[in-house]
Amino acid sequence: MKIIVCIKQVPETQDVRLDPVTHTLKREGIKSIINPFDLYALEEGLRVKESQGGTVTVLTMGPPQAEDALREALGFGADGAVLLSDRAFAGADTWATALTLAGAIKKLGGADLIFTGKQAIDGDTAQVGPMLAAIMNISFASWARKVSFNAAGKVEVERLLDHGYDAVEVELPALISVVKEINEPRLPSFKAKLRAKKEPIPVWGLADLGLNPEEVGLAGSFTQVVKVFPPPARGTSETWEGSPSDLAARLWQRLREMSKAAV
Ligand SMILES: Cc1cc2nc3c(=O)[nH]c(=O)nc-3n(C[C@H](O)[C@H](O)[C@H](O)COP(=O)(O)OP(=O)(O)OC[C@H]3O[C@@H](n4cnc5c(N)ncnc54)[C@H](O)[C@@H]3O)c2cc1C
Repeated sequence: MKIIVCIKQVPETQDVRLDPVTHTLKREGIKSIINPFDLYALEEGLRVKESQGGTVTVLTMGPPQAEDALREALGFGADGAVLLSDRAFAGADTWATALTLAGAIKKLGGADLIFTGKQAIDGDTAQVGPMLAAIMNISFASWARKVSFNAAGKVEVERLLDHGYDAVEVELPALISVVKEINEPRLPSFKAKLRAKKEPIPVWGLADLGLNPEEVGLAGSFTQVVKVFPPPARGTSETWEGSPSDLAARLWQRLREMSKAAV
C-alpha cells in the first residue's frame, strides 16, 4: 500500500500576520508547528501501513523552514519525505497548493491512499483535500473518524457529521481527510528520531514538477488574501442572572422590543 500524508507547517500562534506588500502570510521567524489535524492524518497513515503493509511518505509545500516539520514527521515513523519549496510556490491559494501537491504525487508515481487533515489552523479553508482529490480524479471521503478495510479490498470510512456519523465505502486510490476523533497519535520513537535527523529529504521546485509558473503560487491562484483582521466587536454585552424561565421570558421580551425597533 503506497500511502502519502500531506502535512502543513503552520504558525504556532493564531496571530497570523500578512506581508503588507505581497499579502502573503509572514512565516519567517515565526515558531511553527505541524498542523494539529495532520498529526492524526500521519498516525492513521502509519496504522494503515502496519495493518496493510507498504510505505508512508510525507509531503509538504512550504518555505525551506518547512523541512523541520518533515523531520518531525519522520520521527513518528514515516518512511520518506519530500519538501516542495520554490519562490514560485509562494502566495498559493488552495487551488494552486492542491495542483502543486498533485504534481509531486504524480512524480512519486501516484499513491493508493492519501491522508490529509480536516483543515489547517491558519488558512482554515478545508479545501486542499477535496481539491487534490478532484485534480487527481480519485475518490474522496471527508472528516473520517474511522478507516477500515473490508474483504473486497475497499476502504470503509465513518465520516463525522454534525449529528452523528455515516459510513461510506471508498474505491482505491482515494484521499481521506481526518478529524481528531480518529486516533491517538503515537509518541515519536527515539530510534525514528535519530534516523529522522540523517534522512535525506529531497527538495522539489517548479522545474522538478513539470508545472507552469502561471499554474502555481500567487500567479496560479484564483483568490488572494488581501487583509486579515479580527472581526470588530459588536455593541455592548449584558450579563443576566435568574431562573431559566425568568431568563427565557426576559429574552423573549427583549427580542420583541428589538424586532419592533427594527421595523
Ligand atoms: C488567514 C488566511 C485565509 C486564507 N483564506 C483562503 C481562502 O479563502 N481561499 C484560498 O484559496 N486560500 C486561502 N488562504 C491561503 C491558504 O491558506 C493556502 O492556500 C494554503 O496553502 C492551503 O489552504 P489552507 O491553509 O486553508 O489549508 P486546508 O485546505 O484547510 O488544509 C487541509 C489539509 O490539506 C493539507 N495541506 C494544506 N496546505 C498544505 C501544504 N502547504 N502542504 C501540504 N499539505 C497541505 C493538510 O493535510 C491540511 O490538513 C488563506 C490563508 C490564510 C493565512
